[in-house]
Amino acid sequence: MALTGLGIFKLTPKKNCKDCGFPTCLAFSMKVASGAVEISKCPHMSKESIEKLAEATAPLMKTITVGKGDTEYKLGGETVLFRHEKTLVNRNRFAVLLSENMEDSEIDTKIQHMKDVKYVRIGEEMKTEFVALRYVSNKDKYLALINRVKSSGLKVAYILVCEDAAVMKEALPIVKDENPLAYGANKDNFKDMVELVKQDNIPLGVKADNLEELYTLVEGIQKLGYKNLVLDPGSKSIKETFENTVQIRRINLQGQDRTFGYPSILFLNELAKGDKFQEVTLSTLFTMKYGSILVLSDMDYCRALPLYGIRQNIFTDPQKPMRVEVGVYGLNNADDNSPVMCTVDFALTYFIVSGEVERSKMPVWMVIPDAGGYSVLTSWAAGKFTGSVIADMVKNSGIEQKTKNRTLIIPGKVAVLKGELEENLPDWNIVVGTTEAMYIPKLLKEMAVK
Ligand code: SF4
Repeated sequence: MALTGLGIFKLTPKKNCKDCGFPTCLAFSMKVASGAVEISKCPHMSKESIEKLAEATAPLMKTITVGKGDTEYKLGGETVLFRHEKTLVNRNRFAVLLSENMEDSEIDTKIQHMKDVKYVRIGEEMKTEFVALRYVSNKDKYLALINRVKSSGLKVAYILVCEDAAVMKEALPIVKDENPLAYGANKDNFKDMVELVKQDNIPLGVKADNLEELYTLVEGIQKLGYKNLVLDPGSKSIKETFENTVQIRRINLQGQDRTFGYPSILFLNELAKGDKFQEVTLSTLFTMKYGSILVLSDMDYCRALPLYGIRQNIFTDPQKPMRVEVGVYGLNNADDNSPVMCTVDFALTYFIVSGEVERSKMPVWMVIPDAGGYSVLTSWAAGKFTGSVIADMVKNSGIEQKTKNRTLIIPGKVAVLKGELEENLPDWNIVVGTTEAMYIPKLLKEMAVK
């Protein structure tokens, strides 16, 4: 630091250390303490100190990666119990269970359902991310099932559900390159299981009869030097599974105990006992608290629509509004005679407005400009939803080629923009719409009659 003539301390630029990238050891240490930088970046630390400090400054909950390439998913890594405290980080993922004792036709149907469910909602691709392959008793049929799924063209990450280490030894090489989750380490087989997964650092699923046993088992596995784990809180009853799942997360994050600092896998197909609606109900519960992989008996649109919807709501940053993509959307088979309606890109507003347009059954083109992801009045007040923004969108979006109709309906709450729009879009008839979305069908029907 240097004293300026004004008596104000002024920071003189200092060269950053070429090893750690910080100007001083203190600045480096502060970043390490906040978890933003790894202690190993300083080459002058002894190995023992790095080990001690890395453990002390590691995140409370590990982030475990399962799958590879397009089907790679991060699980865990959470820092808070509740979304409103900060944000939740890694969304839960859905898996469908297949086993070698199922009929061929049942397996084919479930694979087809997994392929069918695929859609994009507010920029997020919704699909089944995992297939869980359970070994029951016939090794040859089990290995054949893994190969069959692998060659089916299904784009999913794998979970091998098998507590027989000898069978796992033969099954694992088939999908080893896909970085599967090898599920089934228990108190009797965990040493063999760790031996199987250690070399390739494949994530290992751990199960026990109760919470105490699970804790002891995780400690035992960690003593073997293995910490790439996913925990099964059990699936004996709904009550016990819920209690255990919440307890694990609380012990980890509130109790600051890293022994339970891992993501979870829950077999909801077992808890629901074949009741599809129970499965959906349980999935919503464990999406909120705190399942990382939820295993279901099937994934069809009936399950997918509510489950992916709630997941998207829970696992988005409450500070960042969800936005729909800027563009032109045709509703109710809009054609070259349909009027144009404009609203903001705030997802909630868009879905309320488009829902009412769909309810009216009147064909309409929706034009959505970049309004910063805010609601109508907020974006207008922030200067992001102005006459010139809407006019530019109309001129540049290609809507003038899609329809001959030159009626542009704007939200009633920004009626004040009418004059500016009439100046910017002289060929268009600017109609001030309703102040509430629920009156949109009435407005559209009245306009069609005129
Ligand atoms: Fe950075 Fe370590 Fe050098 Fe300090 S001793 S400046 S922390 S590399």
